[in-house]
Amino acid sequence: MNHHAEQRFHKNLYYALQSMRGRHVGPFVRRLQAWERLDRASFEHLTRMLLRDALSYARTHVPLYSSGEWQTALSRADANELSHWPVLERSMLITHRSQLRARRFTPGVFARNSSGSTGAVVSVSYNPHAGGWSWAQEYRSMHWFGIPTGSRTLLLWGGGHPLLDWVRNCRVFSTKNLTFDQLERAKHYLLEQRPVLCMGLPSAIAQLARHVRAHTPHAPEQLVPFVKLGGEQVYPFQREEIAQHLGARVFESYGSTEMGPIAHECPAGSRHIMSDHVYLEIFNGDEPARPGEFGDLVLTSLFNRAMPLVRCRIGDRGRLSPDPCPCGLPHPVLSELVGRAADMFVTTDGTLVHGSEIGRRLQLFLSTAPLGSVGQVLFQQKDPAHWNVLVESAAGFTDELAAQLRQIVHSTFGESCRVDIERVALVPREKSGKYRYYRRAEST
Ligand SMILES: [Zn+2]
Repeated sequence: MNHHAEQRFHKNLYYALQSMRGRHVGPFVRRLQAWERLDRASFEHLTRMLLRDALSYARTHVPLYSSGEWQTALSRADANELSHWPVLERSMLITHRSQLRARRFTPGVFARNSSGSTGAVVSVSYNPHAGGWSWAQEYRSMHWFGIPTGSRTLLLWGGGHPLLDWVRNCRVFSTKNLTFDQLERAKHYLLEQRPVLCMGLPSAIAQLARHVRAHTPHAPEQLVPFVKLGGEQVYPFQREEIAQHLGARVFESYGSTEMGPIAHECPAGSRHIMSDHVYLEIFNGDEPARPGEFGDLVLTSLFNRAMPLVRCRIGDRGRLSPDPCPCGLPHPVLSELVGRAADMFVTTDGTLVHGSEIGRRLQLFLSTAPLGSVGQVLFQQKDPAHWNVLVESAAGFTDELAAQLRQIVHSTFGESCRVDIERVALVPREKSGKYRYYRRAEST
């Protein structure tokens, strides 16, 4: 079977299987493709209609939205107008989960759970239709790059679903145990199977990219045409390393447990909001931010009828671009995106620093360290003046590299910090298989 026949075989099988489960991914992809060809005004009208339907359903079917603050705000106002709705804090998904579930029972409801890396686990129920729409979003946006559904894919992710992964032509390598042998297996898959797409966690794909170049320096310059990153914060150095070592075109997607897909990069490099899936607002405290202002992302799901979330503050922050993207897609652009505020660390003089600052400096370190000398690194803060750094290291790991790691802590958190460097065979992953470059030691 050639690549094209193989891709069509897997696409047809995958769409058929998902339809049997009530998730009409194929028809939804075609619907989304028709919507994305609308002019901006018609597209905005469409998303406003989808939003009104979602709000009307939420108000009548969700117990929480006819109680307390919501009852006060909505009883004498038009509940189909989003501006009347209070903000739903993410913590309420844990404390008020049962009151957020719709009264009507829908068969086939399933849950998506957060990794728990930033506090208590959030579990969100989805109806099969909503699941279908979220998968359709993923596949539709890959079409922007000319990658059809069913294309041969290497997936580096926390876990998989053996049957479904085979059906959609995905070979999964778990990131929970990214040992030398596991990286070798992924490398051989790249070299021998030549997938069209490599998809998954940026920390893992960057590690694989370095591994391939360190151990097979004469491998073809381009090992995979496309790499799609998601699931973790992406650092520019990771993108550069992946592009350089795998010879791939790299793009990013952004989503969350609460909402599913939220934004996806287009070929022109803009991060487009999937506004035919979620309605996104930026808030400053309890008020919508001014146009172009940086603030909290507040999201409303357009299709989830099992646990309809309206104006949920998910903890990430960002900024909307005032300008449309030259690519012509009618979806608005999220020009800036910063991960959860919960990832703040305190320095020796009491200043708060976002953990991504460590990630940024570490990526620079990894991209300049000799290939193969360092695997992953984890910075653990025991208290404001004491850090413990776990390093997966090989023969090439020198005192000079250890000093550079200490310097990352000293320059970010204060020269007086004590920094212990501990060389380990494998840095432990989060339960989800996601990788974090930094964490507080008590949260381990
Ligand atoms: Zn664009």
